[in-house]
Amino acid sequence: MFHSGNREFAATHAGISGSASTGAQGMGELKIVDAMIAPLRTAPSESRIAAWRERLNAIDWAPDLGQDIGSARWFRGLATLTLLTVISLSFLPDLGPVYGAQPTMPTPVQLDIARTQTIMPLAYGADSGGRMAPNENVVALAASPERPSIELTATLGRGDSFARVLQRAGVGGADVRAALDLVSSATALSDITPGTRIEIVLGRRSSKLAPRPLDSLDFRARMDLHLAVNRANGGLTLSRKGIAVDDTPLRIRGTVGSSLYRSARAAGAPADVIQDYLRIISSRTSLSSIGANDEFDIIVAHRRAETGEVEVGGLLYAGIDRGGKPRIQMLKWQDGDSTQWFEASGVGEMRGALSRPTNGRITSGFGYRRHPILGYKKMHNGMDFGAPHGAPIYAVTDGTIAFAGRKGGYGNFVRINHAGGLGSGYGHMSRIAVRAGQRVKQGQIIGYVGSTGLSTGPHLHYELYKNGRHINPASVTFTQRAQLSGANLARFKAQLAKLKAVKPGAALAPMGVKKVSAKPAREIDRVS
Ligand SMILES: [Zn+2]
Repeated sequence: MFHSGNREFAATHAGISGSASTGAQGMGELKIVDAMIAPLRTAPSESRIAAWRERLNAIDWAPDLGQDIGSARWFRGLATLTLLTVISLSFLPDLGPVYGAQPTMPTPVQLDIARTQTIMPLAYGADSGGRMAPNENVVALAASPERPSIELTATLGRGDSFARVLQRAGVGGADVRAALDLVSSATALSDITPGTRIEIVLGRRSSKLAPRPLDSLDFRARMDLHLAVNRANGGLTLSRKGIAVDDTPLRIRGTVGSSLYRSARAAGAPADVIQDYLRIISSRTSLSSIGANDEFDIIVAHRRAETGEVEVGGLLYAGIDRGGKPRIQMLKWQDGDSTQWFEASGVGEMRGALSRPTNGRITSGFGYRRHPILGYKKMHNGMDFGAPHGAPIYAVTDGTIAFAGRKGGYGNFVRINHAGGLGSGYGHMSRIAVRAGQRVKQGQIIGYVGSTGLSTGPHLHYELYKNGRHINPASVTFTQRAQLSGANLARFKAQLAKLKAVKPGAALAPMGVKKVSAKPAREIDRVS
């Protein structure tokens, strides 16, 4: 408003002056007009600022630089942009180093002290231990003081012996012998399982040359026995503490459902036990014949101590029940050193066919042939295996050595009697590794290939007999089945009945809880 008013004022001024071209006269007129309009110029500063603000407001400071390129408006926009860019660039931080407090240089005395304490080669001036070196203030000790006793834990390793554990721990020879005598009076040393931790306390020794005396020994000798050896009145004494152990087998029963394995796992059977179980069951019936409503019955050896340790052993019984009646019942039975699975009736498992007596190919079969040395047609009573001199010969199945020694044209010969009237013979051996009367297992080495007796070169002559008569070894695809009888069968049935009487979960029931002497100490305790 003021702006346009000013213009009006200028026009008025021109109108009043009439002709502006007249110099001095015009000036004089101007002064008069100025005086006339003086009241219009009151508060000039305020109105001027307002006018400027108005004018600046009207200016488009940031026009679109894409339009009217080259015009005054465009250049003004460019100037605004440049100004703003310069302002923002001036605020860029300086990335130079920030200077903090400067550490002061150590004094020569401080440097000396630091050098004596640094770990660096002596050549560089290190003076390790210099501060502790003997001087007028520090006196060297003649001997370091000893700890009055040493407590340590030793572990019995696999293939380790109890005596060696004590020796390694620093127990003296006499103490080792005394401790061994005491411990072996309570338990066989071989019964202590590898991994047993033995707490050992060694006492104060009389002189530096003597070993420390054994003060005490503390360990779990067996699952059911805790042993402690203590020094009392100069000698070692043994104290034994029995630990109650419950060896009720663990019986796991359940419905087969969609997966026998998964159901048995869900019922708590260990994975390796279930694998054994499936192997035993599948030796009697195909697993697909087991229905979803059948029940599995697994009995596993189980031992637990009152202190909480649990040992899960192997599978003892494997059964399948259908409609509450046992369909398959298999019991593990140990006879001497052989373990077999038997059916409830006492019939053992099927044993596989005979294994090969030696590694080698068959060079001559059973039957009539021209004898390689005698030259005429003769019955060949066995089978020849070509094998190098010294190759091992194995028993084809379990049995007892009936003969081992020289036998005419057979040279070094071994004959084994097997179960079921079966026998096997091995000839031309270079060396015999068994003696008559000995029991052998399938696969056990009984001798070595040679060329003794009537033989043209190293080979094994192998024969098989049924009730004393030669049979063709190649024709035998027999299986063996053990059958329990007499006292063995009675013991077997008793064992089966005992196992089957175990209630499922009996092994997990609380162990004979110790009766707490129920004498309430306070009257208030009687309330509950
Ligand atoms: Zn032969």
